[in-house]
Amino acid sequence: MVVFDEFGPEKVLQVYDPVTGMRGITVIDNTTLGPGKGGIRMTPDVSVEEVASLARAMTFKNALAEIPFGGAKSGIIADSKKLSREEKDRIVASFARAIRRLVPSTYIAGPDMYMGEHEMEVFVKANGNIKSATGKPNDLCEGYACGIPHELGSTGYGVYHSTLVALEHAGIPVSGATVAIEGFGNVGTFAAEYLAKAGAKIISVSDSRGAIVDEKGLDVQKLIGIKSRGGSVVEYSGVMKIPQEAIFEIEVDVLIPAAKPNVINERNVGKVKARIIVEGANIPATFEIEKKLHQAGTIVVPDFIANAGGVISSYVEHIGGKADDVFPIVESKICPNTKLVLERSKRNSITPREAGIEIAKERIFNAKRLHL
Ligand code: NAD
Repeated sequence: MVVFDEFGPEKVLQVYDPVTGMRGITVIDNTTLGPGKGGIRMTPDVSVEEVASLARAMTFKNALAEIPFGGAKSGIIADSKKLSREEKDRIVASFARAIRRLVPSTYIAGPDMYMGEHEMEVFVKANGNIKSATGKPNDLCEGYACGIPHELGSTGYGVYHSTLVALEHAGIPVSGATVAIEGFGNVGTFAAEYLAKAGAKIISVSDSRGAIVDEKGLDVQKLIGIKSRGGSVVEYSGVMKIPQEAIFEIEVDVLIPAAKPNVINERNVGKVKARIIVEGANIPATFEIEKKLHQAGTIVVPDFIANAGGVISSYVEHIGGKADDVFPIVESKICPNTKLVLERSKRNSITPREAGIEIAKERIFNAKRLHL
């Protein structure tokens, strides 16, 4: 069931095209701070409830990142793996036309599961408005404004800055700080690269094929080389291989989950020895689990502040900025806001997530008051 409260959702839209068979959902949660921003996912079982809860998460994420976007999300009910490129393009184009009146004044789309830069190009071309989506290809331009693809590493860069702030908050110098990273994909790789450059010691990483550990520190460039040839981190020679789940139990200063949801759970929460957890992935632990970690003295930087680099990059694309503008803007949004969240959490003895939600709500309420 969709929950309606003082924030929204303002609009819950379901669309259907009998010609293509497209079935889509758009939820505009809250537009107090700006047009609702959130990606489109294409999965066979995406529901109105799922889209509504993701739209709410975007409302808080954008408010906390201090970008003039509200929260929204879309879903297209289809199995991408069973569609040809042409069939998928037809469905995406049909969805783009169906929600044309909403974009970009009330809704701005972006990539999400099974929707990448190509689909964003199809989307904007079908509804005729280049500003209706972000995460477009770099060579798709109108005037001076071009697309900024997600692959640039803005999310990993934001995770890196959140980590620096959390280390300072905990009084741990970055130089020599030990780090474990679950998932050596887009987010994990960039976070590892920046942290290693800053002097941290990456002692453990994992991917879909396994995990490795070396107390002396791993060579991140060597790992990137293995991955760019299509290999796995387990092909890194001369180190100990461990089960994937063991990465969550290693004694480290910083643990960065950057792959899957719910990886820290009832089964392993008591075994976590990391002093800081920076959530690169979305919801790597439920709120209850985060509470337990907090009570045990672990600092948990929540996903909606740590991984906001991607949506901040979308904002830069939306205002016609260049790829080079993204990094300083990500840093200028993520650093002060991570600090704010951690300080409020400490002062009020609440979890950083609770502190973050409080701050996001205050920003929305204050903006609403100004509008009235
Ligand atoms: P990605 O597909 O580039 O990388 C995921 C990595 O996780 C891959 O290396 C894969 O091998 C690894 N993996 C899969 N199963 C694993 C397992 N069981 N154990 C360990 N590793 C495993 O994805 P990404 O873009 O880096 O996204 C990672 C997470 O970050 C997702 O939760 C995503 O929702 C979140 N996120 C990403 C962005 C972004 O801009 N890319 C923004 C916000 C949040």
